[in-house]
Amino acid sequence: MFKDNLEDTISAISTAQGQGGIGIVRLSGKKALAVADKIFIPFGKTKPADFKSYTVHYGKICDNGEVIDEAILTLMRKPRSYTREDVVEINCHGGILALGKVLDLTLKHGARLASPGEFTQRAFLNGRIDLAQAEAVIDIIRAKTDSALKVSLGQLSGGLSCEINKIRKQVLDILVSIEAGIDFPEEDIGQQDLVKIFLELTAIDTKLNKLLDGSACGRILREGIQVVICGRPNVGKSSLLNALLKKERSIVTAVAGTTRDTIEEMLDIKGIPVKIVDTAGILKPRNLIERKAVLRSRAQVRLADLVVILFDASQRLNAQDKKLIQEVKNKKVIAVINKIDLKARIEKDQISRVFPLVVQLCAKKSQNINLLEDALSDFVYQGKLFAQEFTLVSNLRHIQALRNTRKLIRQTKAALGDKLPPECIGQLLKDACVYLDGILGRSFPEDLLERIFADFCIGK
Ligand code: GDP
Repeated sequence: MFKDNLEDTISAISTAQGQGGIGIVRLSGKKALAVADKIFIPFGKTKPADFKSYTVHYGKICDNGEVIDEAILTLMRKPRSYTREDVVEINCHGGILALGKVLDLTLKHGARLASPGEFTQRAFLNGRIDLAQAEAVIDIIRAKTDSALKVSLGQLSGGLSCEINKIRKQVLDILVSIEAGIDFPEEDIGQQDLVKIFLELTAIDTKLNKLLDGSACGRILREGIQVVICGRPNVGKSSLLNALLKKERSIVTAVAGTTRDTIEEMLDIKGIPVKIVDTAGILKPRNLIERKAVLRSRAQVRLADLVVILFDASQRLNAQDKKLIQEVKNKKVIAVINKIDLKARIEKDQISRVFPLVVQLCAKKSQNINLLEDALSDFVYQGKLFAQEFTLVSNLRHIQALRNTRKLIRQTKAALGDKLPPECIGQLLKDACVYLDGILGRSFPEDLLERIFADFCIGK
């Protein structure tokens, strides 16, 4: 189904919808230049079909002599284009009306409206990028922080694909020596060969472990973590949230609270996308509305990756604090003793006995907020530092494929130890290759492609 569609010339608005300085209509396919010829009147002498690749031209977009817009046209001839097909990009004035009219014109003259992700899909089907790289494109569009962007850019430039290809080659090399044993039984795999193969499998296992170890971090960088701030009324929850917001100049989005009693904000803390939820902190509901608010707060705590529980340094621990401690003690928790500018009535030991990670700060004056940020990022990286060039796997599909590969590699080692017939061992390795190929998109069920590209926006 996908390959059949490659005959069509596709067109879409590639910039975000809405008012903007400029907007781009992009065309890709065999007829891209022919369509451009019919709608673009350049101020120079030549027409689009004669333009050189990678040149930019100023002109008018016309429909039957009526000028629709002034535009700049860029041409990238195949195969040196995003899709490996002829690509024409028309920069128009950004208004939705003008862009819509230009798009309609391209459709009138033979292009078809592109489906979501179809440009990237073509780049994949035409062999310019592999599937992991195509998936990186969507992650780049969605990246919430610099670090997430870096992970996705690494994947787009082929970092992950290169690692996977190396592992695949190692697996294939082993498969070849096993198959030699099947084809020429008289050349039985000797003890020395067995040891060598075993060591090679162990090396592959180690590599897969390393990639999977970093995947938790990769996923967090991509999707972020949900942190819930809780504490009894007046401990300083809102003040802490404000202090974090004020300090973080790179707020990604301000999500309006889903309910009156919780406020959610998206922050970028040391490159980690953090969704912070400030809960109501009502402990003794007085009516039905408050009771519902408490239930919602509890649900937030249950969902949270991490809980920040606040205590007031100037007050002794009371029954409300103790009740909250009980509610969160089985979660991952950072305890915060706030209001350290006031006379202390709380002992740090009282808190650290329950929660080993304690940060003392003053939210009102934004003192020691950095200590909380350090604790948060330590929680994410779990003491593991990843070198800049380290490939971080962040996509769940890739993580699952790597886990399956690792399982098969371990089964192969066991099968070797149990002296199973080479046919069985070979089959395990072939299955491992299928998973690795799946990451790169060398073999794929069609509905997988549909699912991946459906996540894209139109025009990408
Ligand atoms: P919440 O009910 O937990 O959200 O608490 P708020 O953030 O509304 O703070 C309650 C009161 O404590 C306000 O009057 C704040 O100004 C005050 N407060 C918050 N943090 C501090 C702090 O670090 N030191 C002092 N002295 N007062 C604070």
